Amino acid sequence: MNFPSANILEVNLTNGTIQKKVLDGDTHRLYPGGSALGTYILLKELKPKVEPLSPENILVFSVSPLTGLPIAGANRITVNTKSPLTGGIGDSQAGGFFAAYLKANGWNSIVFKGKADHPVYLYIDEGKIELRDALNIWGKVTGEAEKLIREDLDEDNVDIAQIGPAGENLVKYANIINMNNRANGRNGTGAVMGSKNLKAIAIKKRLGLKPADPDNFNKLVKEGIQRFNNSKGLRSLGEHGTDGGLISHHKNGFLATRNWKSGYFPEGAENITGTTMTETILKKRDTCYACPIRCKRVVEIEGKVDPIYGGPEYETAASLGSYCGITSLETVSIANQLCNMYGLDTISCGGTIAFAMECYEEGVLTKESTGGIELNFGNDESALTMIELIAKREGIGDLLAEGSYRVAQRLGNGAEKYSMTSKKQEFPAHMPQYKPSLGLIYSVNTFGADHQSSTHDPVLTLPPESEARNNLALLGIRKGYDDNFEMDDEKTRFAFNTQCFESTVDILSLCQFVWGASTELYNPKDLVKFAKYGIGWDTSVYELMEIGERKINMMRYFNAREGFTKEDDTLPQRVFEPFQDGPSKGVALDREKYEKAKETYYEIAGWDKKTGNPTEGKLKRLSLGWLINDLQMKRVLN
Ligand code: SF4
Repeated sequence: MNFPSANILEVNLTNGTIQKKVLDGDTHRLYPGGSALGTYILLKELKPKVEPLSPENILVFSVSPLTGLPIAGANRITVNTKSPLTGGIGDSQAGGFFAAYLKANGWNSIVFKGKADHPVYLYIDEGKIELRDALNIWGKVTGEAEKLIREDLDEDNVDIAQIGPAGENLVKYANIINMNNRANGRNGTGAVMGSKNLKAIAIKKRLGLKPADPDNFNKLVKEGIQRFNNSKGLRSLGEHGTDGGLISHHKNGFLATRNWKSGYFPEGAENITGTTMTETILKKRDTCYACPIRCKRVVEIEGKVDPIYGGPEYETAASLGSYCGITSLETVSIANQLCNMYGLDTISCGGTIAFAMECYEEGVLTKESTGGIELNFGNDESALTMIELIAKREGIGDLLAEGSYRVAQRLGNGAEKYSMTSKKQEFPAHMPQYKPSLGLIYSVNTFGADHQSSTHDPVLTLPPESEARNNLALLGIRKGYDDNFEMDDEKTRFAFNTQCFESTVDILSLCQFVWGASTELYNPKDLVKFAKYGIGWDTSVYELMEIGERKINMMRYFNAREGFTKEDDTLPQRVFEPFQDGPSKGVALDREKYEKAKETYYEIAGWDKKTGNPTEGKLKRLSLGWLINDLQMKRVLN
């Protein structure tokens, strides 16, 4: 079978030209979509050391060859760019239907270059592509902008990915929102879109792609539905959403609380956990294209929370709840709504506000510097005010819009120790003290702390005969553990191998809850089958793992040419300090084991232990020899 070629839509916003380019099938197979295709395009087209918010930066949206087929959890949209938050590769995925519509309109990727001289949006209806004026839409929150775009097009049947005012105002952690509630969060991709005067992409809703082998394909779909019906864990994920697990994080003593000072939130965990949401404000469950799990929340609080903005995920409930000491589900839901209206990444927004709250309580920020706002932990009104100020870059919000790492550098006076970041990006709500291999990945990951870049430690405590452990055996991981806290060479191998697999999950536009190494719906062998029956791609778990590893090396290479080295692979001191209260009292990440694991990780990855960068031999083995010809990289690599 010939691997499908990729149709790339290139939009030059400076001069308004739009062209179709085609990536041949053989090359596409090496970089088959999502973040691999996005990073490939950036490495080919983006010069090193470009200022992320300048017209020279490039913004790429990509899907995979499987996207558009009715496969559960196979329809995520990826955005890659140079990140204004980290200064390295930017990478972000969002669920919904946008990716499926893009593919069914005939496109694998959209590449934006340059900067429009006034606000515009892009409209795609198969081959009919136009840049349209967005002057009257600029400045509007997402819900209003969506209505205006539909009116402008005189067309209801469109899906819209857009930035809110935060992206327009170049907030370093602005995101891109589709359906008003699905976010390409993390890494500040929305700020890059704003810097280009690009408000939105509107796409005609279109589905109906057909699999290569419908009979076998449909059998796999049916098997998935059966497994979903038989899985208590997946049904619970659907019933209570990702936030259903918040309470167990708290009970174990590892729910990040008051800017990660504690892992224990007795005053608020019950209020903000997913089961409480289900019993109180949940209006309905929502889904992404073809997914039976329906884990997305839609909440409503009359006069306060509009269901069009969805509902809080676990990450949001933690970052805008326990991180900030907020105990009210209503406040968390309003905060979630504000972030979706303004287009802000909830994790970095909550993490930055929690950081500012600690600075305030420690006297590094004062009532004078906050403009009269009392910014102590647990102050609901102040937290909500902060979100608006950040999005609008008003008052203290202008400073906090830079993210906690940069704010700490500017404030000094010890503020640095309150910034819970890796590569300048705020930590998601999974604690390295409880998940040490994930902590390792937080630090070495190319796009900063991320909870979806590897499988989490607790899976290794499941019985060897469990579905999840069987999946891991396919990836070469067999050793189990009695508890989470061990960090030996085998655990480092687990971190690396699952990072490669989860990298493939992102490349193929897959959802981790459906396709991650520890889920019960589909396993890596099913992915091989879907590739065969979906598009006729004869592949193997080996090829899929190599694709994931190739992308990690491409991203590492991207960062190396920006000047990143192993010195950037760090964790904040706080995770090495024992907790003072709760069930995890006395627990800390062991620094010695962590440092040793990092060295082992570089060895396993085949990277230079002095620089932490890929070696020439490694790049050649992954068919990335073309990168070595870059003279500047020769200096970085050797
Ligand atoms: S599990 Fe949830 S996030 Fe993943 S595809 Fe299904 S509905 Fe979307």
